Amino acid sequence: MKIPVAKPYLDKEEAQYAYDTILTGWVTQGPKVTEFEEKFATYVGSKYAVAVSNCTTGLHLAMIAAGVQEGDEVICPSLSYIATANCIRYVGAKAIFAEVNEEYNLDIEDVKKKITPKTKAILVVHQIGMPADIEAFRNLCKEKNIILIEDAACAAGSAYKGHKIGYHSDLVCFSFHPRKVITTGDGGIITTSRADFYERLKLLRQHGMAVNDRVRHESTKVIITDHLELGYNYRMTDIQAAVGIKQLEKLDWIVEERRKIALQYHEAFKDIDFFRLPIEREGYFSNYQSYSIYLKENSPISRDDMMQKLLDMGIATRSGVMTSHRETAYIGYSEEKLPISEDLCDQSIIIPLYVPMSQEEINYVIESIKTVIKL
Ligand SMILES: *Cc1c(COP(=O)(O)O)cnc(C)c1O
Repeated sequence: MKIPVAKPYLDKEEAQYAYDTILTGWVTQGPKVTEFEEKFATYVGSKYAVAVSNCTTGLHLAMIAAGVQEGDEVICPSLSYIATANCIRYVGAKAIFAEVNEEYNLDIEDVKKKITPKTKAILVVHQIGMPADIEAFRNLCKEKNIILIEDAACAAGSAYKGHKIGYHSDLVCFSFHPRKVITTGDGGIITTSRADFYERLKLLRQHGMAVNDRVRHESTKVIITDHLELGYNYRMTDIQAAVGIKQLEKLDWIVEERRKIALQYHEAFKDIDFFRLPIEREGYFSNYQSYSIYLKENSPISRDDMMQKLLDMGIATRSGVMTSHRETAYIGYSEEKLPISEDLCDQSIIIPLYVPMSQEEINYVIESIKTVIKL
Protein backbone atom coordinates (compact mmCIF):
# COMPACT_ATOMS: atom_id res chain seq x y z
CA MET A 1 0.00 0.00 0.00
CA LYS A 2 1.15 3.58 -0.71
CA ILE A 3 -0.39 6.26 1.46
CA PRO A 4 0.25 9.99 0.94
CA VAL A 5 0.21 12.40 3.88
CA ALA A 6 -2.54 14.48 2.28
CA LYS A 7 -4.55 14.93 -0.88
CA PRO A 8 -7.25 17.38 -1.90
CA TYR A 9 -10.86 16.32 -2.37
CA LEU A 10 -11.97 17.40 -5.84
CA ASP A 11 -14.51 15.86 -8.18
CA LYS A 12 -16.37 16.45 -11.46
CA GLU A 13 -18.46 19.27 -9.99
CA GLU A 14 -15.42 21.52 -9.61
CA ALA A 15 -14.21 20.56 -13.10
CA GLN A 16 -17.64 21.24 -14.62
CA TYR A 17 -18.04 24.64 -12.97
CA ALA A 18 -14.54 25.70 -13.99
CA TYR A 19 -15.34 24.51 -17.55
CA ASP A 20 -18.60 26.49 -17.59
CA THR A 21 -16.77 29.55 -16.31
CA ILE A 22 -14.10 29.35 -19.00
CA LEU A 23 -16.80 29.23 -21.67
CA THR A 24 -18.40 32.44 -20.38
CA GLY A 25 -15.26 34.25 -21.53
CA TRP A 26 -14.82 36.03 -18.20
CA VAL A 27 -11.87 34.31 -16.57
CA THR A 28 -10.18 36.82 -14.28
CA GLN A 29 -11.75 38.40 -11.18
CA GLY A 30 -15.43 38.88 -11.96
CA PRO A 31 -18.88 37.49 -11.10
CA LYS A 32 -17.63 34.13 -9.79
CA VAL A 33 -15.22 35.85 -7.40
CA THR A 34 -18.09 38.00 -6.11
CA GLU A 35 -20.29 34.93 -5.68
CA PHE A 36 -17.53 33.07 -3.85
CA GLU A 37 -16.88 36.04 -1.54
CA GLU A 38 -20.55 36.40 -0.64
CA LYS A 39 -20.91 32.70 0.05
CA PHE A 40 -17.73 32.50 2.10
CA ALA A 41 -18.69 35.54 4.20
CA THR A 42 -22.12 33.99 4.84
CA TYR A 43 -20.48 30.69 5.74
CA VAL A 44 -18.20 32.18 8.43
CA GLY A 45 -20.68 34.84 9.58
CA SER A 46 -18.70 37.93 8.60
CA LYS A 47 -20.13 40.89 6.70
CA TYR A 48 -17.58 40.80 3.89
CA ALA A 49 -14.91 38.70 2.25
CA VAL A 50 -12.17 39.68 -0.21
CA ALA A 51 -10.72 36.89 -2.36
CA VAL A 52 -7.01 37.09 -3.18
CA SER A 53 -4.36 35.10 -5.03
CA ASN A 54 -3.23 33.19 -1.92
CA CYS A 55 -3.12 33.53 1.85
CA THR A 56 0.34 35.10 1.85
CA THR A 57 -0.81 38.01 -0.32
CA GLY A 58 -3.92 38.21 1.90
CA LEU A 59 -1.71 38.54 4.98
CA HIS A 60 0.36 41.21 3.22
CA LEU A 61 -2.78 43.25 2.53
CA ALA A 62 -4.01 42.66 6.09
CA MET A 63 -0.76 44.17 7.39
CA ILE A 64 -1.25 47.25 5.20
CA ALA A 65 -4.92 47.60 6.19
CA ALA A 66 -3.91 47.33 9.86
CA GLY A 67 -1.47 50.20 9.30
CA VAL A 68 1.62 48.13 10.11
CA GLN A 69 4.74 49.83 8.80
CA GLU A 70 8.46 50.25 9.16
CA GLY A 71 9.52 50.53 12.79
CA ASP A 72 6.49 48.60 14.08
CA GLU A 73 6.61 45.24 15.79
CA VAL A 74 4.18 42.39 15.22
CA ILE A 75 4.12 39.43 17.61
CA CYS A 76 3.65 36.02 15.99
CA PRO A 77 4.74 32.42 16.47
CA SER A 78 7.95 31.19 14.88
CA LEU A 79 6.35 27.73 14.88
CA SER A 80 4.32 28.26 11.72
CA TYR A 81 4.65 28.13 8.00
CA ILE A 82 7.25 30.79 7.13
CA ALA A 83 4.65 32.97 5.34
CA THR A 84 3.33 34.04 8.76
CA ALA A 85 6.55 35.86 9.64
CA ASN A 86 7.40 36.87 6.09
CA CYS A 87 4.27 38.99 5.64
CA ILE A 88 5.39 41.16 8.57
CA ARG A 89 8.74 41.75 6.90
CA TYR A 90 7.06 42.68 3.60
CA VAL A 91 5.85 45.94 5.15
CA GLY A 92 9.21 46.66 6.80
CA ALA A 93 8.04 45.77 10.30
CA LYS A 94 9.77 43.40 12.72
CA ALA A 95 8.41 39.94 13.53
CA ILE A 96 8.74 39.28 17.26
CA PHE A 97 8.54 35.56 17.92
CA ALA A 98 6.64 34.24 20.92
CA GLU A 99 6.40 30.71 22.25
CA VAL A 100 3.54 28.31 21.69
CA ASN A 101 1.54 25.95 23.90
CA GLU A 102 0.80 22.23 23.64
CA GLU A 103 -1.80 22.93 20.96
CA TYR A 104 0.93 24.49 18.79
CA ASN A 105 -0.77 27.88 19.22
CA LEU A 106 0.59 31.17 20.59
CA ASP A 107 1.21 31.20 24.34
CA ILE A 108 -0.56 34.34 25.53
CA GLU A 109 1.63 34.69 28.63
CA ASP A 110 4.75 34.83 26.48
CA VAL A 111 3.01 37.24 24.10
CA LYS A 112 2.25 39.59 27.01
CA LYS A 113 5.94 39.64 27.95
CA LYS A 114 6.87 40.66 24.42
CA ILE A 115 4.52 43.64 24.05
CA THR A 116 6.41 46.94 23.79
CA PRO A 117 5.35 50.49 22.82
CA LYS A 118 6.25 49.50 19.24
CA THR A 119 3.82 46.56 19.12
CA LYS A 120 1.27 47.35 16.42
CA ALA A 121 -0.41 43.98 15.95
CA ILE A 122 -0.57 40.39 17.12
CA LEU A 123 -0.70 37.79 14.36
CA VAL A 124 -2.45 34.76 15.82
CA VAL A 125 -2.26 31.47 13.91
CA HIS A 126 -4.84 28.67 14.18
CA GLN A 127 -2.16 26.09 13.72
CA ILE A 128 -3.04 23.06 11.59
CA GLY A 129 -6.71 23.95 12.04
CA MET A 130 -6.87 24.05 15.85
CA PRO A 131 -8.33 27.41 16.93
CA ALA A 132 -6.24 29.63 19.16
CA ASP A 133 -7.96 31.26 22.17
CA ILE A 134 -9.32 34.19 20.16
CA GLU A 135 -11.32 35.67 23.02
CA ALA A 136 -8.24 35.99 25.21
CA PHE A 137 -6.26 37.58 22.38
CA ARG A 138 -9.14 39.91 21.48
CA ASN A 139 -9.32 41.13 25.07
CA LEU A 140 -5.56 41.59 25.28
CA CYS A 141 -5.50 43.56 22.02
CA LYS A 142 -8.37 45.76 23.15
CA GLU A 143 -6.68 46.48 26.46
CA LYS A 144 -3.36 47.36 24.82
CA ASN A 145 -4.81 49.08 21.76
CA ILE A 146 -3.19 46.61 19.39
CA ILE A 147 -4.68 45.19 16.20
CA LEU A 148 -5.52 41.49 16.02
CA ILE A 149 -4.85 39.68 12.75
CA GLU A 150 -5.69 36.00 12.33
CA ASP A 151 -3.65 33.68 10.13
CA ALA A 152 -6.41 31.18 9.49
CA ALA A 153 -4.61 29.63 6.50
CA CYS A 154 -5.36 26.12 7.77
CA ALA A 155 -8.63 26.88 9.57
CA ALA A 156 -11.48 26.98 7.02
CA GLY A 157 -14.34 25.08 8.66
CA SER A 158 -12.87 25.22 12.18
CA ALA A 159 -14.90 26.92 14.91
CA TYR A 160 -14.40 28.59 18.25
CA LYS A 161 -17.09 29.05 20.91
CA GLY A 162 -19.97 28.40 18.53
CA HIS A 163 -18.81 30.50 15.59
CA LYS A 164 -16.77 29.64 12.53
CA ILE A 165 -13.24 31.00 12.30
CA GLY A 166 -13.60 34.21 10.27
CA TYR A 167 -16.39 35.55 12.43
CA HIS A 168 -14.47 36.78 15.46
CA SER A 169 -12.25 39.61 14.24
CA ASP A 170 -11.71 41.96 11.33
CA LEU A 171 -8.68 40.69 9.45
CA VAL A 172 -8.84 36.92 9.06
CA CYS A 173 -6.85 35.32 6.23
CA PHE A 174 -7.53 31.86 4.78
CA SER A 175 -5.61 29.73 2.29
CA PHE A 176 -6.92 27.49 -0.48
CA HIS A 177 -3.59 25.82 -1.24
CA PRO A 178 -4.10 22.07 -1.96
CA ARG A 179 -2.47 21.19 1.37
CA LYS A 180 -5.36 22.89 3.19
CA VAL A 181 -8.86 21.53 3.74
CA ILE A 182 -10.45 23.02 0.59
CA THR A 183 -8.57 24.27 -2.43
CA THR A 184 -8.75 26.49 -5.51
CA GLY A 185 -5.32 25.37 -6.79
CA ASP A 186 -3.83 28.39 -5.09
CA GLY A 187 -5.95 31.08 -3.51
CA GLY A 188 -6.92 32.92 -0.39
CA ILE A 189 -9.61 35.06 1.18
CA ILE A 190 -9.78 37.73 3.88
CA THR A 191 -12.93 38.04 5.98
CA THR A 192 -13.90 41.23 7.77
CA SER A 193 -16.97 42.94 9.15
CA ARG A 194 -15.47 46.43 8.87
CA ALA A 195 -16.63 48.36 5.80
CA ASP A 196 -13.46 50.51 5.74
CA PHE A 197 -11.18 47.44 5.70
CA TYR A 198 -13.37 45.85 3.02
CA GLU A 199 -13.10 48.87 0.68
CA ARG A 200 -9.35 49.26 1.26
CA LEU A 201 -8.58 45.57 0.71
CA LYS A 202 -10.51 45.54 -2.58
CA LEU A 203 -8.57 48.59 -3.73
CA LEU A 204 -5.17 47.19 -2.72
CA ARG A 205 -5.64 43.82 -4.43
CA GLN A 206 -6.28 45.49 -7.77
CA HIS A 207 -3.56 48.10 -8.27
CA GLY A 208 -5.40 50.72 -6.23
CA MET A 209 -7.81 51.11 -9.14
CA ALA A 210 -10.76 53.37 -8.28
CA VAL A 211 -13.18 51.66 -10.68
CA ASN A 212 -12.55 47.98 -11.42
CA ASP A 213 -12.75 46.44 -14.88
CA ARG A 214 -16.01 44.61 -14.29
CA VAL A 215 -17.80 47.85 -13.48
CA ARG A 216 -16.28 49.48 -16.56
CA HIS A 217 -17.25 46.48 -18.70
CA GLU A 218 -20.87 46.69 -17.58
CA SER A 219 -21.16 50.47 -17.78
CA THR A 220 -23.04 52.18 -20.59
CA LYS A 221 -21.00 55.33 -19.98
CA VAL A 222 -17.30 55.76 -20.62
CA ILE A 223 -15.36 55.60 -17.36
CA ILE A 224 -11.76 56.78 -17.03
CA THR A 225 -10.40 55.34 -13.83
CA ASP A 226 -7.78 56.62 -11.43
CA HIS A 227 -5.29 54.68 -9.29
CA LEU A 228 -5.63 55.98 -5.78
CA GLU A 229 -2.63 54.46 -4.03
CA LEU A 230 0.19 51.97 -4.47
CA GLY A 231 -1.64 48.72 -5.05
CA TYR A 232 -0.88 45.17 -6.12
CA ASN A 233 -2.18 42.50 -8.43
CA TYR A 234 -3.33 39.97 -5.86
CA ARG A 235 -6.52 38.95 -7.65
CA MET A 236 -8.14 35.53 -7.63
CA THR A 237 -9.39 34.39 -11.06
CA ASP A 238 -13.00 33.47 -11.79
CA ILE A 239 -11.80 29.97 -12.77
CA GLN A 240 -10.39 29.51 -9.26
CA ALA A 241 -13.48 31.03 -7.65
CA ALA A 242 -15.71 28.58 -9.56
CA VAL A 243 -13.72 25.71 -8.02
CA GLY A 244 -13.93 27.43 -4.65
CA ILE A 245 -17.72 27.75 -4.79
CA LYS A 246 -18.07 23.98 -5.29
CA GLN A 247 -15.45 23.26 -2.62
CA LEU A 248 -17.23 25.49 -0.11
CA GLU A 249 -20.44 23.47 -0.59
CA LYS A 250 -18.48 20.39 0.54
CA LEU A 251 -16.50 22.01 3.35
CA ASP A 252 -18.67 20.92 6.28
CA TRP A 253 -18.84 17.38 4.95
CA ILE A 254 -15.05 17.24 4.41
CA VAL A 255 -14.48 18.50 7.97
CA GLU A 256 -16.86 15.89 9.40
CA GLU A 257 -15.07 13.14 7.49
CA ARG A 258 -11.69 14.41 8.69
CA ARG A 259 -12.93 14.46 12.27
CA LYS A 260 -14.11 10.86 12.04
CA ILE A 261 -10.62 9.79 10.98
CA ALA A 262 -9.03 11.91 13.72
CA LEU A 263 -11.31 10.23 16.24
CA GLN A 264 -10.18 6.80 15.07
CA TYR A 265 -6.55 7.85 15.51
CA HIS A 266 -7.35 9.20 18.93
CA GLU A 267 -8.99 5.97 20.02
CA ALA A 268 -6.15 3.87 18.63
CA PHE A 269 -3.33 5.87 20.22
CA LYS A 270 -4.77 7.33 23.42
CA ASP A 271 -3.13 4.76 25.69
CA ILE A 272 0.37 5.16 24.30
CA ASP A 273 2.03 7.04 27.13
CA PHE A 274 4.82 8.61 25.09
CA PHE A 275 2.42 10.12 22.51
CA ARG A 276 0.79 13.49 23.04
CA LEU A 277 -2.22 13.62 20.72
CA PRO A 278 -3.96 16.77 19.44
CA ILE A 279 -5.85 18.52 22.23
CA GLU A 280 -9.31 19.88 21.45
CA ARG A 281 -10.63 21.72 24.48
CA GLU A 282 -14.27 22.53 25.28
CA GLY A 283 -15.58 25.15 22.84
CA TYR A 284 -12.88 24.43 20.27
CA PHE A 285 -13.64 22.68 16.98
CA SER A 286 -10.79 21.67 14.69
CA ASN A 287 -11.02 20.80 11.02
CA TYR A 288 -7.94 18.57 11.54
CA GLN A 289 -6.10 20.10 8.61
CA SER A 290 -3.25 17.96 9.95
CA TYR A 291 -3.01 15.31 12.64
CA SER A 292 0.22 15.90 14.53
CA ILE A 293 1.56 13.57 17.23
CA TYR A 294 4.20 14.80 19.67
CA LEU A 295 6.73 12.22 20.85
CA LYS A 296 7.55 12.67 24.52
CA GLU A 297 11.00 12.19 26.01
CA ASN A 298 10.34 8.57 26.94
CA SER A 299 9.62 7.57 23.33
CA PRO A 300 11.57 4.38 22.48
CA ILE A 301 11.98 5.55 18.87
CA SER A 302 13.23 8.85 17.50
CA ARG A 303 10.91 10.94 15.40
CA ASP A 304 13.12 10.65 12.31
CA ASP A 305 13.44 6.85 12.64
CA MET A 306 9.70 6.61 12.94
CA MET A 307 9.24 8.65 9.77
CA GLN A 308 11.74 6.49 7.84
CA LYS A 309 10.28 3.19 9.02
CA LEU A 310 6.78 4.31 8.07
CA LEU A 311 8.01 5.46 4.67
CA ASP A 312 9.59 2.01 4.19
CA MET A 313 6.12 0.60 4.79
CA GLY A 314 4.65 2.93 2.15
CA ILE A 315 3.29 5.59 4.51
CA ALA A 316 4.30 9.20 3.92
CA THR A 317 4.51 11.48 6.97
CA ARG A 318 5.83 14.98 7.59
CA SER A 319 7.89 16.45 10.38
CA GLY A 320 6.08 18.80 12.76
CA VAL A 321 5.20 22.40 11.95
CA MET A 322 8.39 24.29 11.04
CA THR A 323 10.10 27.00 13.05
CA SER A 324 10.74 30.12 10.98
CA HIS A 325 13.60 31.49 13.12
CA ARG A 326 15.89 28.55 12.27
CA GLU A 327 15.50 28.92 8.50
CA THR A 328 18.36 30.40 6.49
CA ALA A 329 16.23 33.42 5.58
CA TYR A 330 16.07 34.28 9.30
CA ILE A 331 19.69 33.78 10.30
CA GLY A 332 20.69 36.67 12.55
CA TYR A 333 17.16 38.03 12.48
CA SER A 334 16.00 37.64 16.07
CA GLU A 335 17.34 37.06 19.55
CA GLU A 336 14.37 35.31 21.16
CA LYS A 337 15.04 31.91 22.66
CA LEU A 338 12.31 29.50 21.62
CA PRO A 339 13.09 26.08 23.13
CA ILE A 340 9.46 24.95 23.28
CA SER A 341 8.83 25.79 19.62
CA GLU A 342 12.04 24.02 18.58
CA ASP A 343 11.17 20.92 20.59
CA LEU A 344 7.63 20.76 19.17
CA CYS A 345 8.97 21.09 15.65
CA ASP A 346 11.66 18.42 16.17
CA GLN A 347 9.60 15.85 18.05
CA SER A 348 6.28 15.98 16.18
CA ILE A 349 5.14 13.83 13.30
CA ILE A 350 2.22 14.56 10.98
CA ILE A 351 0.47 11.38 9.85
CA PRO A 352 -1.79 10.80 6.80
CA LEU A 353 -5.28 12.28 6.89
CA TYR A 354 -7.35 13.02 3.80
CA VAL A 355 -10.81 12.50 2.36
CA PRO A 356 -11.76 9.93 1.27
CA MET A 357 -9.46 7.62 3.23
CA SER A 358 -10.63 4.01 3.10
CA GLN A 359 -11.08 2.01 6.30
CA GLU A 360 -8.35 -0.28 5.00
CA GLU A 361 -5.95 2.67 4.69
CA ILE A 362 -6.84 4.00 8.13
CA ASN A 363 -6.28 0.56 9.66
CA TYR A 364 -2.98 0.17 7.84
CA VAL A 365 -1.69 3.50 9.18
CA ILE A 366 -2.76 2.61 12.74
CA GLU A 367 -1.29 -0.89 12.64
CA SER A 368 1.95 0.29 11.03
CA ILE A 369 2.47 2.98 13.66
CA LYS A 370 1.83 0.44 16.42
CA THR A 371 4.33 -1.93 14.83
CA VAL A 372 6.99 0.74 14.38
CA ILE A 373 6.88 2.02 17.96
CA LYS A 374 7.32 -1.51 19.35
CA LEU A 375 10.63 -1.95 17.51
C1 LIG B 1 -0.20 27.53 4.17
C2 LIG B 1 0.00 28.61 5.15
C3 LIG B 1 0.21 29.93 4.73
C4 LIG B 1 0.39 30.32 3.28
O1 LIG B 1 -0.75 30.08 2.50
P1 LIG B 1 -0.65 30.29 0.91
O2 LIG B 1 -2.06 30.27 0.44
O3 LIG B 1 0.14 29.13 0.38
O4 LIG B 1 0.01 31.58 0.66
C5 LIG B 1 0.30 30.91 5.71
N1 LIG B 1 0.22 30.61 7.00
C6 LIG B 1 0.05 29.35 7.44
C7 LIG B 1 -0.06 29.08 8.90
C8 LIG B 1 -0.05 28.30 6.52
O5 LIG B 1 -0.20 27.05 6.96
